[in-house]
Amino acid sequence: MNLTEVILEEGKKLHCSEAITLEELAFPFGTYPITKKSPLELDVTNEGDKKLKLEGSISLEAEVPCDRCLDPVAVPLDISFDLELDMKLSDEERHEALDESDYLHGYNLDVDKLVYGEALLAWPARVLCRDDCAGLCKVCGQNLNRKTCDCDRTDLDPRMAKIRDIFSMYKEV
Ligand SMILES: [Zn+2]
Ligand SMILES: [Zn+2]
Repeated sequence: MNLTEVILEEGKKLHCSEAITLEELAFPFGTYPITKKSPLELDVTNEGDKKLKLEGSISLEAEVPCDRCLDPVAVPLDISFDLELDMKLSDEERHEALDESDYLHGYNLDVDKLVYGEALLAWPARVLCRDDCAGLCKVCGQNLNRKTCDCDRTDLDPRMAKIRDIFSMYKEV
């Protein structure tokens, strides 16, 4: 997306609806396919003094494995942001000042990179298929939401092991 028109005229406001081509969110901690996406709705305003205001919103849905059982979960991301860009700075100075991803090169705005950065900020701290997800058996890997198993899982929890030691001490006396 080219911002020349709005950069050159103080007070100018531009609204646009931009399709993003991003197919997945490749974060440092995992890559998640995007299963639904709305266009990015973006308002760009020239506020004078070479400052640009970017107000945008986009709805995404990504497929993410449940933190406990690894089943795929559809995670909705309703993202909205409000950014100010100082066009007096060079690309390099701006990146350093705002510690932002490099979504702006000269007068060109890379909407995919912008959405990627905002999705990272909006990313949920944890993803569960349901609040009471029982997870996987640590011994046999069975998904405990679907079926239980007969594995003895107590040995795997050090706190439980301590409690059992105390009980067995009493039994011996
Ligand atoms: Zn789960
Ligand atoms: Zn098991």
